[in-house]
Amino acid sequence: MKDSSHYSESYHDDIIARHKYAESFNNPNPNIRIAIIGGGVAGMGAAKTLVETKFPVTLYEINERLGGDALAIDIKTQDGKTVQVDGGVSDFNLNTYFQFRAFLEEFGAADYTNIRNDVSFSSLKSKKTIRIEEGKCYFQDADIDPLLFLQEIERFSHITQELSIKQQTTMDVQEFLKYLRKKKYSEDFINFFLIPKITGAWLVDVENLNKFPIDGILKFFKYHGIIGGKQGKRVCIKKGIYTYADCFAEWFISNGGNLKLHTQVNRIFISQNFIEVETFHKERGKRVEHFDHVIFATKPKQALNIIGDANQIEYRILSTYPTNHADVYYHYDERVMPSNKKAWAAFNYYVYDEIRKENPNACVTYWLNYLQQLPSEFPNVFTTVNPPFELDPTKIYCHKRLEHPLGLLLHRDISETSIHRVQGDRRLWFCGSYVVPPFLQENAYVSGLSVAERLIRNYLPHFPMAYTELVDHMYGTEYF
Ligand SMILES: Cc1cc2nc3c(=O)[nH]c(=O)nc-3n(C[C@H](O)[C@H](O)[C@H](O)COP(=O)(O)OP(=O)(O)OC[C@H]3O[C@@H](n4cnc5c(N)ncnc54)[C@H](O)[C@@H]3O)c2cc1C
Repeated sequence: MKDSSHYSESYHDDIIARHKYAESFNNPNPNIRIAIIGGGVAGMGAAKTLVETKFPVTLYEINERLGGDALAIDIKTQDGKTVQVDGGVSDFNLNTYFQFRAFLEEFGAADYTNIRNDVSFSSLKSKKTIRIEEGKCYFQDADIDPLLFLQEIERFSHITQELSIKQQTTMDVQEFLKYLRKKKYSEDFINFFLIPKITGAWLVDVENLNKFPIDGILKFFKYHGIIGGKQGKRVCIKKGIYTYADCFAEWFISNGGNLKLHTQVNRIFISQNFIEVETFHKERGKRVEHFDHVIFATKPKQALNIIGDANQIEYRILSTYPTNHADVYYHYDERVMPSNKKAWAAFNYYVYDEIRKENPNACVTYWLNYLQQLPSEFPNVFTTVNPPFELDPTKIYCHKRLEHPLGLLLHRDISETSIHRVQGDRRLWFCGSYVVPPFLQENAYVSGLSVAERLIRNYLPHFPMAYTELVDHMYGTEYF
């Protein structure tokens, strides 16, 4: 497998080559109609490639705006104005998100703010808190040697060098923790750094860690610069997460794409000659349209619900991708932050302890004002994933229940359950962050580009498969 840096240097060349190709291109099949269900970043990737190659595309999105999980929320400032703040699903590493970065540049959204990246880890039971900021460690009610703790973090950043590929793909998280203990990593490092980071990355509860192989976690850590040598440069989009979604929507429409917002796809019906797509719009009601292909850019279970009469293999494969629900609250209830204000960080984790046994789900709070360097007149905005106690209902801006991929289950028979086995069968196609670990915006976007390439190949056997190759090289063909 090639490292992602292999592709970093050439991403600009890729775009130029693709544009040249698209400009000179006359689609010999202009009557092939394609529906894309889901306007998250994966759906946008698929739509972009298809429109560039001049296929007629209709993009359905249930919400009023594109973006999917990459969302912003409305907040009232002290002077009564309503402003939008990225909901927390927004930052990325400039050193590892190559294709997504290229997409932002293309759509004029590549104006970034560096995010603050410090972290705190607290125990509800003992009040012990650790805060780590720019190579420094601070403790409250804890008997820990800061130098040793930082040395362990540094040592851990090289962990992949001491593990074979086989160990990385076969060890589950519990075995990995055993391995680290054998290698004399301290309990404080494991409980106050590593476990909260792992559960926070996957939004998985601590009691289910044995079900997951560590390779997905290691990839996630690499994407965020926790391992792999360089820290990277984590940023968010200065004018907000919707910048790219809105610019893309404008481009899509002006290039002939048919954008249907506020439109829920209820069901599809597959017949011999076409696929019937039944939709519902609040004002226009139910409608039925006909397509030759349908791309699902939703979560796997949402796709299954829409297909309705999924065959056995579609059912088996789509239901094999495990996902977890996370309760995400946007609020200003300060009780969820560390008790000592000096310990407040951009990312604040609650560690697993006696009190949290009742509610072992991953729990993390992003302090958005500090993380995204919001203007000082903004009131506090915290995004808390799975609050450890009930928040004050008067201090909640809004609540979302988000579905998050959990990674491939260990011992899953990959050859039997790869999405490859159904891709394009019955003219149905699937993309989304869930098919490409570690399930971030970059992965969702590339999965969309790649599925479009595969579809186009049905009509144009020589169509370049640049992004499909990228997915295959970086993640292994078994994933996609
Ligand atoms: C709490 C949390 C924090 C995260 N933080 C980060 C981060 O900091 N950085 C990062 O890069 N990634 C982050 N991610 C991951 C990132 O959000 C996802 O990888 C990405 O947004 C997923 O894109 P997608 O297109 O695959 O799916 P989605 O964004 O889920 O898009 C699917 C779309 O389909 C639409 N849809 C569903 N059903 C229908 C229907 N029946 N009809 C019409 N439309 C439908 C939905 O409304 C949605 O817009 C985070 C995720 C979560 C949950």
